[in-house]
Amino acid sequence: MQGPRTRGAKQPGRRPAGGVSPNGDGPRGIRVRSVKPKQSVALGVVDYTLAKRALLRDWRHGLVTRLDICDAHPELLRAARYLGEELHSPCPVCRNYELRLLAYVYADGLKQNNGRAFEVSEAKALAAERRGGAYVVEVCTYCSWNHLSAAFHARSAV
Ligand SMILES: [Zn+2]
Repeated sequence: MQGPRTRGAKQPGRRPAGGVSPNGDGPRGIRVRSVKPKQSVALGVVDYTLAKRALLRDWRHGLVTRLDICDAHPELLRAARYLGEELHSPCPVCRNYELRLLAYVYADGLKQNNGRAFEVSEAKALAAERRGGAYVVEVCTYCSWNHLSAAFHARSAV
């Protein structure tokens, strides 16, 4: 199954949320840190929290509409319902407790599983094992809000 595209994650022709790219080379709102998972390959992390805040601020100031930010593809909503890890915090848009986290993995050798939705822990393990990337997406299954939350990339062990 090909994973649906989400805001901030490789959408050609669309401005990535907060002016950042999934590669973490955006001009602002990016914090990069390194974590050492159970796997032997370390994963670098790009945190998109500040980019999310900037987009939500734009929405509150009327620079983008709710339709612009609550546009999750039906496949993304379906994957979030069945694979998504529940977050115990309210949606930043509709305030309902329907937020889920799930992840998409891209790596050499994944073949038909490239871009498939996974549970976050499984996606990170797969990215480390296959030396690829896992893109964690926050989705509200009530209002369709969605945003790239973090990107994990395999890097050489130190
Ligand atoms: Zn919502």
